[in-house]
Amino acid sequence: MLEKVTEFFRNLPAKKCIECGKEMEEQHECYGNVCNECLHVK
Ligand SMILES: [Zn+2]
Repeated sequence: MLEKVTEFFRNLPAKKCIECGKEMEEQHECYGNVCNECLHVK
């Protein structure tokens, strides 16, 4: 099961911040669609 989840995330395109458009390496869904930098700015 874990392997399938890893595969799923691997196939996802790079996540981009909706604020600055910067690609995010992190895959944590709890971030929403905003990168750390933008989160801290606000
Ligand atoms: Zn950002």
